[in-house]
Amino acid sequence: MRISDPQLRGHLAERGVDLRPGAKLSEWTSLGIGGTTDMLRITKHASIPDLLGLLEASRVPHRFLGGGSNLLVDDGELPWVVLQLVPPEPDVVLEGNLAHIDAAADLGRTVTFCAKHDLGGMEGLIGVPGTVGGALRMNAGAYGMQIGTYVREVQLYRAAARKIETLRGHQISFEYRHTSFAADDMMLAVILELPSKPYNEILNGIRICNEKRRSSQPLGQKSAGCIFKNPPGASAGRMMDELGLKGLSIGDARVSERHANFFVNAGHASAKDMLALIGDVRERVRKAYGVALENEVVVWNA
Ligand SMILES: Cc1cc2nc3c(=O)[nH]c(=O)nc-3n(C[C@H](O)[C@H](O)[C@H](O)COP(=O)(O)OP(=O)(O)OC[C@H]3O[C@@H](n4cnc5c(N)ncnc54)[C@H](O)[C@@H]3O)c2cc1C
Repeated sequence: MRISDPQLRGHLAERGVDLRPGAKLSEWTSLGIGGTTDMLRITKHASIPDLLGLLEASRVPHRFLGGGSNLLVDDGELPWVVLQLVPPEPDVVLEGNLAHIDAAADLGRTVTFCAKHDLGGMEGLIGVPGTVGGALRMNAGAYGMQIGTYVREVQLYRAAARKIETLRGHQISFEYRHTSFAADDMMLAVILELPSKPYNEILNGIRICNEKRRSSQPLGQKSAGCIFKNPPGASAGRMMDELGLKGLSIGDARVSERHANFFVNAGHASAKDMLALIGDVRERVRKAYGVALENEVVVWNA
C-alpha cells in the first residue's frame, strides 16, 4: 500500500516517521520472501497513539514488523503499510536485576549485554534472531526456557484503549509460542527481571545452546525457524522426518535436509510456493498421524 497523500506524508514526518516508500519485505524477512509496501520506521514512541490515530482516520491499515524472523509475507503489492520501531540509544538499561529494554532492541545483543553484566536466564535465546518486541509477542523460547518467565512489566500501545499502557507480568499469559496480547497491541518496551549468575557460567550455557543449534539447524539458509508448533507431547520435526519429508520441495521452497521443521528458501521461493509446501506437509502429517499441525510461523496473507 502506498501513502501518496502529501498532507499525510507531512503529518508522518512531523511525528518522527522515516517513510520508506515501496520497501521490499523480502529484504526485511529472514525467509527472503515478501512483496512491496510502504514502511514507516518510527523514531518517537510517544507519538505512536497520535500516529496510529492518524493512520486509522486516513484508512491506512498496518502491520507490525520486528526483525522479520518469524514471518511468511505474501507476494506482490501488499494491502497494508508496515510499522517498525527504530531502537533508541541505548536500547537496554540495567538497574540491579532489572533490564529495561526497548522493543526494537536486537534479541541476541540484549542476551549477551545482560550476560556481560552477570544477568542470565536467557541463554536458550542465543541464536534466536529478531527483536525483543517480536520475542515477547511470540513468547520466544528454546531448550526449556521462554522469555515470558522473566517479564516483570510490558509497556505497549493498546489499540482498543487508544493509549500507551503498562501491564505487569502476572496480567499477561505466556504459553508455548502464544501470548494473551491482542493482535493490534504494539509492544514498546519491557522490563525483564533476570537471575544473577557469573558471566562464565552464562557463557558456558550460551556455548552449549550455540552448539546444539549449529549441529541441528540449517543456519546458513533462509528460514523462519520452525514452521509448525510441536503438538502436545510430540515433535512436529520428528513426524516429518519419519515420513521422509526432508528435501521435499515446491519451487524453491524446501523442507530442510538438516531439520524437517525448518523450511528454507533455497533460491527465489515465493510465498505461494512456501504456503503450498506448508499445506502439503500438513496434509501428509494429518493423514499419517491424525494430527493437525498448527503454524508457528506467522503468515501475512494479502
Ligand atoms: C534460524 C532461526 C532460528 C529460530 N529459532 C527460534 C527458537 O529457538 N525459538 C523461538 O521461539 N523462535 C525461533 N525463531 C523464530 C523467531 O526468531 C522468533 O519468533 C522471534 O522472536 C521473532 O522476532 P522478530 O522480531 O523477528 O518478529 P517478527 O518476525 O518481525 O514478527 C513476529 C510476530 O510478532 C509481531 N511483532 C513483532 N514486533 C512487534 C511489536 N513491537 N509489537 C507487536 N507485535 C510485534 C509481528 O507482527 C508478528 O506477528 C527462529 C528463527 C530463525 C530464522
